[in-house]
Amino acid sequence: MKLRSLISLALSLMIVASVFGQQLTSTFDRRNLDETCLPCQDFYGYVNGGWLKQNPIPGTFGSWGVANLVAEANRDALKNILEAAAANTKAPAGSNEKKIGDLYASCMDTAAIEAAGTKALNPVFAEIKKAKDERTLQTTVAHLHKMGIGSMFSRFVAADAKNSSINIVQVGQGGLSLPDRDYYLKQDDKSKDTRAEFIKHVTNMFVLLGDTPAVAEAEANTIMAIETKLAQASMDRVDARNPIKTYNKKTTAELNELNTTFSWPQYFKDLGYPNIKEVVVRQPDFFKALDHELTATPLDDWQVYLRWRALTAAATALPAKFDNENFRFFGTYLQGTKEQQPRWRRCVNTVDNNLGEALGPEYVKVRYPATAKAKMKEMIDNLLAILKDDLSTADWMSAETRKQALDKLSLFTPYIGHTEKWQDYRTLTIDRSSYLGNLRRSAEFGFKDNLDKAGQPVDHSEWPFTPPTLNAGYLPTGNQIFFPAGILQPPFFDFNSEDAFNYGAIGAIIGHEIGHGFDHNGRRYDGKGNLRDWWTADDAKQYEERASCIEKEFSGFQALEGLNVNGKLVLGEAIGDLVGLRLAYRAWKKSLVGKPDPPTIDGFTAEQRFFLGFGRVWGTNARPETLRLQVQTDPHPPARFRANGTVMNMPEFAAAFGCKSGDAMVREPACKIW
Ligand SMILES: [Zn+2]
Repeated sequence: MKLRSLISLALSLMIVASVFGQQLTSTFDRRNLDETCLPCQDFYGYVNGGWLKQNPIPGTFGSWGVANLVAEANRDALKNILEAAAANTKAPAGSNEKKIGDLYASCMDTAAIEAAGTKALNPVFAEIKKAKDERTLQTTVAHLHKMGIGSMFSRFVAADAKNSSINIVQVGQGGLSLPDRDYYLKQDDKSKDTRAEFIKHVTNMFVLLGDTPAVAEAEANTIMAIETKLAQASMDRVDARNPIKTYNKKTTAELNELNTTFSWPQYFKDLGYPNIKEVVVRQPDFFKALDHELTATPLDDWQVYLRWRALTAAATALPAKFDNENFRFFGTYLQGTKEQQPRWRRCVNTVDNNLGEALGPEYVKVRYPATAKAKMKEMIDNLLAILKDDLSTADWMSAETRKQALDKLSLFTPYIGHTEKWQDYRTLTIDRSSYLGNLRRSAEFGFKDNLDKAGQPVDHSEWPFTPPTLNAGYLPTGNQIFFPAGILQPPFFDFNSEDAFNYGAIGAIIGHEIGHGFDHNGRRYDGKGNLRDWWTADDAKQYEERASCIEKEFSGFQALEGLNVNGKLVLGEAIGDLVGLRLAYRAWKKSLVGKPDPPTIDGFTAEQRFFLGFGRVWGTNARPETLRLQVQTDPHPPARFRANGTVMNMPEFAAAFGCKSGDAMVREPACKIW
């Protein structure tokens, strides 16, 4: 799902998860509140305090939130489907049912995984060893890329941002094992400790593979040195999300000026796509530096690095000793997670990731009510109508920019539930003989499926999400908003609940995605999804001033002692949240026109229930390690600030709870885009 790398999501990708028998509540449960906490001082604490106390983080998670309950209910449904498919001996050969059952069974078969050892890696290691010089080394890299083994840099096919109806190959920085370039570059004690732990981890993995401890440690240091060079050449996360800075279209001839050692025509030939003549280079400086390193770093060292990349990519599909060591570093050390997820959960994820559109139709049958789509459509239309009002009346916008903004809004396309055109897996072979073999063939299938699209028209029926995904997203090059079936359930969306809750919860998520279309990056695309500057200089300046209010606000939030939120990194998400909640509130109010006033229920006014519906979806306990990782790598602010940082800019919130000037939840003056 390469589209994922370009999409703006509603939820942090760290929401991954498991269930422990909790019941989803469809109506508001007062026990979730902490009534000792004042809503005007800490709304997040007030609305979630009770829930947070009653729901400690399970050992298998780095964080645990209300959203996890939904994700786990989804996963339970998938488990039932997969266990039935794996047990069905009558499933026709080559059918989707047989494939999902076989992939699941091969993942669950730990005895076969132990027996296979690491021998499936031997041909890969042999190929790495065969490289004789920089040219043959790059052929090896191309072959590894085809197998899904990431190294040196990344590559995917997606819409050309300046010609959005046609797909183009995009190449970008990559090849790192740690979560971000800053992990290699920062000089604080925590970062130094992380690097020392990483070297220990790599050493342990090579020792498990049979290298002596002395050799393994030397290899680990070599890998650290290479990855540090790649990190030094990488853009930081803020620039890497900037659509202008990352758009550098080049012909393969122009690429030859950028890279004299690395041959792009040869790379595409090695991949099996010799006709590729145009590429978007996301970070040209990275490729210049990589080119230098290809000759400056000895070939032997590169081979050590590639051997590591092949080993770490396969770790979770190898015998337990590798899998456990991999978890010890990436799960426990980096995220604070105490125990591995049970095998079945990881295997469900594997099938969803690799055969998501074979599994998805079965999920839809059991967990997606047919009526959901119409209700969603109605809410989306209501929110779009409010933004149309806003854009039509914003006094700081010129007529020229306004017209373009309204054009863009009129071209927004919502996608609800799931794709209408399921992926065809006929050419993918899945069997029960080798889990690693299945993963490799799936990666090769995904690679080919993606690369085949280079130069082809963009297919707008394609989804960046599988149906059970608990998330939502905006794709700027398609001007599309997506709401997979997985998120269309309580507490996000509840058929049995009144509109106040639904507009506060899923309504704010819908608004968030619409808001991405006009966030500081999204605003740079036009209605057809082309990167084009349609703002007058003065309007752009006005916009940036408004956005900088939000950036400053979020930079002021402290996630951990000494670690503040990066306002620049989270700006797009924070804009989405604020624009989204404001749209949802007014769309809800408008939907009440001509109807009797909603009553007070359980002591809460309808306005209060709207905000309670919003606040409760963010209830999340997080381990400090996970929070640190999130603040450093995730464009989504931590949950507490998504709730509080948003409502404090809404006078409607202050009015609903009687908050006064000077209260912590009243920001003066409030930040506002529209
Ligand atoms: Zn988002």
